Amino acid sequence: MVHTGDGKGKTTAALGLALRAVGCGMKVMMIQFMKGTWKYGELEAAKRLAPDFTILQMGEGFTWETKDRRKDIALSKKTWEFCKETLQSGKYGLVILDEMNYVLGYGFLDTKEVVDFLKKKPEELHVVLTGRNAPKELVELADLVTEMKEVKHPFQKGIIAQRGIEF
Ligand code: ATP
Ligand code: MG
Repeated sequence: MVHTGDGKGKTTAALGLALRAVGCGMKVMMIQFMKGTWKYGELEAAKRLAPDFTILQMGEGFTWETKDRRKDIALSKKTWEFCKETLQSGKYGLVILDEMNYVLGYGFLDTKEVVDFLKKKPEELHVVLTGRNAPKELVELADLVTEMKEVKHPFQKGIIAQRGIEF
């Protein structure tokens, strides 16, 4: 599954799936590529669903500045190695790779390598990749692709991030 597009809801839709899957008795792992993407709300809620739902922040040290591109690439590769182990572990019914599309878009990871690995994933395992600008190879591979389209966002009215909605 791929959640992409420039409207709000890519990560929250993935969290909704996690809730549903946990209710069906599945173990769920969510891995974050970019530090700071996940907010207080979901981190606290996940603790209540432990050990069935785990969210892991791997992005510590990410700079997103081109001057430290080598460091960002190294960290992306390390995170991807962990993702591969998780995907193959057989422990989870659903694995969410949050903001993975950004990492591929920036060229920090090779899209072909990721797509080739996902082609060989265990058949019964569900995988969600979120983030704007999903690469076309990923869109082709996925069974389900949803594009969030911005119609209105409170930010345009000057409404700042609201507790429980944005964080
Ligand atoms: P969310 O986590 O709320 O589901 P998202 O995963 O779709 O959002 P990201 O691209 O990960 O969106 O962006 C993260 C942050 O940017 C969130 O706080 C989100 O509310 C905000 N955001 C998303 N879309 C928009 C938009 N169209 N205008 C302004 N802010 C936005
Ligand atoms: Mg997001």
